Amino acid sequence: MELRNVPGPKAQAIIARDREVISPAVGRPYGFVMDHGRGAEVWDVDGYRYLDFIAGIAVVTTGHSHPAVVKAIQEQAEKFIHISSDYYHEPWVRVAEKLAEIAPFGGEPGMSFMTNSGTESVEAAIKLARYVTNRKFFIGFLGGFHGRTMGSLAFTARKAAFRSRFFPWMGGVVHAPFPNPYRPILRSRGDEGYGETVVRYIEEQILGTLVPPDEVAAFLVEPIQGEGGYIVPPDDFFPALRRLADKYGILIISDEVQTGVGRTGKWWAIEHWGVQPDLVASAKGLASGVPFGAMLARKHLMMQWPKGAHGNTYGGNPLASVAALVTLDMVEKELMANAAEVGAYALEGLRDIMARHPTIGDVRGKGLMLALEFVRDRASKEPFPELRDLVEQYAFRLGLLTMGSGTSVLRMAPPLIITRAQVDEAWAILEEAIARAERELAA
Ligand SMILES: *Cc1c(COP(=O)(O)O)cnc(C)c1O
Repeated sequence: MELRNVPGPKAQAIIARDREVISPAVGRPYGFVMDHGRGAEVWDVDGYRYLDFIAGIAVVTTGHSHPAVVKAIQEQAEKFIHISSDYYHEPWVRVAEKLAEIAPFGGEPGMSFMTNSGTESVEAAIKLARYVTNRKFFIGFLGGFHGRTMGSLAFTARKAAFRSRFFPWMGGVVHAPFPNPYRPILRSRGDEGYGETVVRYIEEQILGTLVPPDEVAAFLVEPIQGEGGYIVPPDDFFPALRRLADKYGILIISDEVQTGVGRTGKWWAIEHWGVQPDLVASAKGLASGVPFGAMLARKHLMMQWPKGAHGNTYGGNPLASVAALVTLDMVEKELMANAAEVGAYALEGLRDIMARHPTIGDVRGKGLMLALEFVRDRASKEPFPELRDLVEQYAFRLGLLTMGSGTSVLRMAPPLIITRAQVDEAWAILEEAIARAERELAA
């Protein structure tokens, strides 16, 4: 395999200009400078081709510039590009009708509030939860990521850099441990499962001592932690959390910004555990790359918001709406099944790689949310972030885009159109990258 000297000269020139005018707050793991993309393939400005196994962070659901998405955007752009959410238009209504149909509320219809990003969907959910319950407190989860604005940031508990010098953010949020089966931090009692252990801890230690349960509006939780390291909770967690929430009249907001829209093989990841939330935050994969988000809520909750309680300028943007319609249609007809099928195949492939590399402590995922966790050795499970970073760099230089997550995790979230052949090609590159990184660090 050819180890490329990337970023190449054209890419380097653009990166140098970027450095002068784009905020250094924007973090880039490596110097990929995009020229164009098609499906799961992307090309940089120096002409190098890559397999894109991150899809703009789980955004480009139908692949890059899918012809049907492009056509829908072009046709809509010819008609009109914007009319504010003070007016009506049909594409927006059609997206909301589709979302109402697929909302995971167990038969109760859903209603939508459209946004432009994940953090806005989360903010809308927090505001609705406070409004309808008239309760002040929320419970978030350690390792969670929900966005960067002052409401969602109050829940985001991933890295000190995300929070440093930004306090005060929204008040009233306390954090519970998220059940990480690979790295449990609580002791189970008897034959209790680890998900139940965490929920018992929440009931005894958080509701019992920190915040009175009848003052808690909602749990805000990712069904699979995304930025936290693609952590899949044990199967008993969500059912137990739902029981606890019902006991005290607390709502559950499922943050499906990264996990939703078919990525895990179901419309919403929380459906893997047969649990129905009360609100859902969606964005990322919803419109195949056009900025778009939606906060879904059970109809009886959303109907309580009076006119003017919330709003925005761009919600239901026509270009985003038509891109979402094509995306949702393709996900329903074939891509959700493809995510489940090719995802299972890809997970097997990662397990094979793990069998050959003791530096990999864990392999996990659902559908096309896939991750490897690197460790210094499997017995101690000590994280090995330097190795992860180097694997990410080598993968880039060998022609594969991936992204770090958590402390020592490498994640893959390819477009849902991915094929088995592309997985084979990607995993060959990945294994070569791992081998090179291991040799370099003499692991
Ligand atoms: C990315 C992400 C967000 C924030 O979305 P933005 O569009 O970046 O504001 C919120 N929640 C989860 C789970 C995410 O992965």
